[in-house]
Amino acid sequence: MLEESPSDTPQAYLHGYSNILPGLESALEGHAKGEFLEVTLSPEQGYGPRIDSSIQRIPLKHIKDKGKLKKGQIVSINTDRGVRQVSVMKVGRFVVDVDTNHPFAGLTLDFKIDIQDVRVATEEELSHGHAHGKGGHHH
Ligand code: ZN
Repeated sequence: MLEESPSDTPQAYLHGYSNILPGLESALEGHAKGEFLEVTLSPEQGYGPRIDSSIQRIPLKHIKDKGKLKKGQIVSINTDRGVRQVSVMKVGRFVVDVDTNHPFAGLTLDFKIDIQDVRVATEEELSHGHAHGKGGHHH
């Protein structure tokens, strides 16, 4: 098990706005509240193949997560293309070696999805391009 939504806070997304993986979004198309789906995505449909030689040495201060880092930990870094998740490989005093592959890169992903609710999006959600409220964005 790589990830699980807490049962009291299912993930909310806005269908048709690329909030989730495209393969997952198309599998959910046309399904209703109360349905249960099992979806398998290849690495290509998921987070892409794992790329060797993608270890980078970056200054510790670029790591957004606070506290002591350890090998294998997933942390967020600021890049010119926005925030990215990387895996910690080796921690130095001022620098840290990270693997920039997405933690789920190269994996075939099996999803088990319980559709707990389907509702009409609000005007505000449509203009923001994401779901609000429980399981969605709060801002
Ligand atoms: Zn919003």
